[in-house]
Amino acid sequence: MIIVMKPGAAEEDINKIIEKIRELGYAPHALRGVEKTIVGAVGNEENKGRLQALESMRGVESVVPIMKPYKLAGREFKKENTVIDVCGLQIGGKNIVVMAGPCSVENREQILESARAVKAAGGNILRGGAFKPRTSPYAFQGLEEEGLKLLAEAKKETGLPIITEVVNPNDMDLVADYADIMQVGARNVQNFTLLKLLGQCKKPILLKRGMMTTIKEFIMSAEYIMSEGNRNVILCERGIRTFETATRNTLDISAIPVLRKETHLPIVVDPSHATGHWEYIHSMAMASVAAGADGIIVEVHPKPEDALSDGAQSLKPAKFKQLMEDIEKFAIAAGRGMYK
Ligand code: PEP
Ligand code: MN
Repeated sequence: MIIVMKPGAAEEDINKIIEKIRELGYAPHALRGVEKTIVGAVGNEENKGRLQALESMRGVESVVPIMKPYKLAGREFKKENTVIDVCGLQIGGKNIVVMAGPCSVENREQILESARAVKAAGGNILRGGAFKPRTSPYAFQGLEEEGLKLLAEAKKETGLPIITEVVNPNDMDLVADYADIMQVGARNVQNFTLLKLLGQCKKPILLKRGMMTTIKEFIMSAEYIMSEGNRNVILCERGIRTFETATRNTLDISAIPVLRKETHLPIVVDPSHATGHWEYIHSMAMASVAAGADGIIVEVHPKPEDALSDGAQSLKPAKFKQLMEDIEKFAIAAGRGMYK
């Protein structure tokens, strides 16, 4: 249920509503807008009738049900797009944000070289995995804390904020010490223990869609994070598994307008994992911006042929530079801009 307060409702009346919601066994989530404050009452629906009765309390304009299963992530609760500030970059704002870097942090030279290339081409955020969720237990699993330290060094040199994946709930605090955005990988999209824990941390979370999750399930995963108090969730479409084998996954481009309609959260697309081949990244990135994505996350490696993971779907720096120039053209055509 959403309790809509009258314009200019007194703080005291808002607090009374929040208290009452708690008393009825619901979790209150207040959204203070410029004109009106609304308070979401989230929980199981048994006491719905009693929530409806809050209509008679002072300062309340109306009490309306939220029909969708995602209460906090949905547009019913919040009409305006959510904009997430990451070191001064507004994700979900007017400008398209580009996150780029290697799949994995491999060594000092590789990550520094990648960071310099991303920065020189105009990329905004450096990506790089220190904890890698690999399909094979025999494949490179990441440099772990050493990788995080190298990311910190790259950030210090270039000024690029860092996005990196957290795989294991036990590593959350460690990763949060280094990351500006914590990534949840496709394979962990329904790791509810991890999601709930991330809901208690303050860092923005980039949540990747699982290769076999529906859009509804995907948004419900965002809801898990938000229900614990962290509202800074970025949704990332990275391709789903279909019968097609020419590409690693199938980029669900229509997920962009569907997510846009259903949620207020920023939407980012990963054309690298979606296609699995560097030569398809460019067109899919353009299509994503044209379809309304707020950003792109793409793999870039100084020597893809030597990469320890995902070399085939990584752009060389020169190709990335070209991509950045073309994204800008599409961004402008879509009424957006780029950070300079
Ligand atoms: C990655 O970003 O390197 C990654 C493992 O992505 P995904 O979880 O989408 O497979
Ligand atoms: Mn990868």
